[in-house]
Amino acid sequence: MYRDSRPRKARSPATMAPHKYPMISMPEAIDIVLSRAAPLEEESLPFADAVGRVLASEVTAPRPHPPFPASIMDGYAVRAADVPGTLRVVGAARAGAPLGPSGARSESDTQPGHAVYITTGAPVPPGFDAVVPVERVRFPGGAGSDAVAVADAYGPGANVRAVGSDVQRGEVLLDAGDRVGPHELGIAALAGVSEARTHRAPMVAVLSTGDELADPFAETESSRSAGPSGNASASLDVTAGSIFDANRHMLLACAREAGAEVMDLGIARDDPDALADAVARAVDAGADVVVTSGGVSEGDKDHLKDVLLGSRGRIAGVVHFGRVMMKPGKPLTFAEIRRVAETKTSAREETSTTRSKTVLAFGLPGNPVSAAVTFALAVAPAVRRMLGWVDPRPRRLQAVLAQDIALDKERPEYHRATLDWEASGEDSRDGAVRNATRLPLARSTGRQISSRLTSMRGAEVLLELPRGPGFVAKGTAVSALVIRDIGTQGGLQLPRVRPEVVTTSRSRDGVLGAATAAAAGIATRRDSEAVPETSFGRRPRAIAVVTHPSVAAKSAADVAGEARVPDSDRAVTDAGNDDGAAVLEAVSRFLRRAGAGEGGDDPWRVIEARAENGTSRRLAAVARAAATTAAVVLVAPSGPSAVSSQAAVVAGTDLGFPGLAPRMRAPLEKASRDGGDGGDGGDGGDDDSEADASAIAALAYRESGFGIEAGQVAGAVVASLPCTNCEEALSEGLTKMLFVPREKWEGLVL
Ligand code: AMP
Ligand code: MG
Repeated sequence: MYRDSRPRKARSPATMAPHKYPMISMPEAIDIVLSRAAPLEEESLPFADAVGRVLASEVTAPRPHPPFPASIMDGYAVRAADVPGTLRVVGAARAGAPLGPSGARSESDTQPGHAVYITTGAPVPPGFDAVVPVERVRFPGGAGSDAVAVADAYGPGANVRAVGSDVQRGEVLLDAGDRVGPHELGIAALAGVSEARTHRAPMVAVLSTGDELADPFAETESSRSAGPSGNASASLDVTAGSIFDANRHMLLACAREAGAEVMDLGIARDDPDALADAVARAVDAGADVVVTSGGVSEGDKDHLKDVLLGSRGRIAGVVHFGRVMMKPGKPLTFAEIRRVAETKTSAREETSTTRSKTVLAFGLPGNPVSAAVTFALAVAPAVRRMLGWVDPRPRRLQAVLAQDIALDKERPEYHRATLDWEASGEDSRDGAVRNATRLPLARSTGRQISSRLTSMRGAEVLLELPRGPGFVAKGTAVSALVIRDIGTQGGLQLPRVRPEVVTTSRSRDGVLGAATAAAAGIATRRDSEAVPETSFGRRPRAIAVVTHPSVAAKSAADVAGEARVPDSDRAVTDAGNDDGAAVLEAVSRFLRRAGAGEGGDDPWRVIEARAENGTSRRLAAVARAAATTAAVVLVAPSGPSAVSSQAAVVAGTDLGFPGLAPRMRAPLEKASRDGGDGGDGGDGGDDDSEADASAIAALAYRESGFGIEAGQVAGAVVASLPCTNCEEALSEGLTKMLFVPREKWEGLVL
């Protein structure tokens, strides 16, 4: 398998700068990997230990099953010829206790008119050929008597499993190439096959590289402290620039899950000799595969490629590829290496080393997401091929996007997503995703930067997104590679978000009130507590919902229930209606589904900004205030068809987004020119002039439900929500705002 030394010389580190590695495609990379990985040698092992292995030879049944004619029912064994009729019970045959010495033991003992009590799975005694279920007999002589009356006819063999009816002797139970799972183990056990002939499982050695890495699990009991949630956590020397080594523990678990045996090589410093030592140690210890992370890109501490090529001795190798056109994971490196003596000058040593075992070496990028993704796409298939899998590539399925996803301009992207199989129908709550194909809905795990490992949390698939420009629209079916068991996830494990409600009004409680908020699991806090600043175009990552004290007439369920009302049937809600609480809940729900809430990295927060009343002027004023503490401000519906809140946004914001509020601005601008006040005549009650109000109402009625009307205040997006189809508008508008780069959605026409 190992090639001679010529390619190695041609690729010597001195002549091969890292950027010289040609960039190949990921499918090409997988082909190369699989062309170098072969099923390992066969071995025998106890069947019970073979789960996860692939059979190297078939398993045949050494005996028939059932091995005796067995009853399918609890009832009475009879001679078919005797029924219907009344029979005398002469004994009992139970599973594991065939008819005993006192009963009929051979055909000659069986008299016409006899019956035997029998349980499911018991051997049908010789001479009997049918079983009458216990529910189908009567006891004419009472409970204690030995007479049973059978009213129906039963043919020979009724309710009896004949010898070999499940499995014939010599039948092929399991084939070569079958993967042993729990059910295959059960089949072997039922047949009494105790030994499996399988391919050996590869030994995968895992090494982390980097001067910055500290082992999170190597701490002693005393050096641990409790984190914010009370979990014990190791201490970290931040001043030294240390971070915890996530990759090694993750990749060891990935390798185990792929079916490999594992070897933990620890952490190596960014020193070529330390790297060469660690890799050599793995080969000496019998590793079939070495997986490293970090040190494969273009920095001056990235020595791994050279080390694999043999720059420091101990090992020698061929690098098959060193860059892959993919995001994340571009520096993925794949080599074949072998052990060489410390000095490789003498011809004798060279001869002996060419006979040494060849080991596959994967240099994964250091960013944890890149490491996880490249393991799933390149290493796991190699492990599976070595285990003997016939098709070791990841399974591919089609899924429908739950949201728009922006494409990367440079490289095809493997976008992490969870699958929602329930929401795949027409009546999906997920905004306008109408998915007649009933494919699963793919929800992005949120921000995809390769250092944000929480984007792998719960991820079941990698969406195969092409290179940009532009974005793939919500509702589009895309192909997805399965990276974990999708049987048990199914959206049930979506990240949870516990929103925090910050009231901006000092004098009043928010719509929710402390008790309601507590019951809903929502934390409340006063605005006197500082809201930490994080960045969303220089705005805090918070969504403020502007609410007002009119009755919160609708529950979240009511609002959600309206999400599917056809346009023609929408009711205009009453003046002064306020869905503040529902909107708060809907925003929280959206964040939870999108994985953008608490628990994620850099979570979004929900803030309640309380207006004294629901007039457009008040709402506009509070929205402007809230815009200083939030990146996104949503004005809860107010007024007929949310006219007041829409007017608040249009009149109260500096710069409209034409794409988001296409037809709102012109009439409102006209109203504002004619009426002088943007359709908002004051703070007291019904403040829009009649004519303006009806024009705006008609407009709002047409517009509500199609999206969010939006403008901006000092960089924060301020948007009103319709009072119908609120959930839909929310998920559509927020998806754009949070996940599609702003320069893209600003120009969009909904
Ligand atoms: P590298 O590929 O070595 O340039 O590393 C790229 C990034 O991944 C850097 O920010 C490293 O600190 C980080 N990194 C490398 N190895 C690990 C690891 N084992 N666990 C967590 N982060 C890592
Ligand atoms: Mg590094």
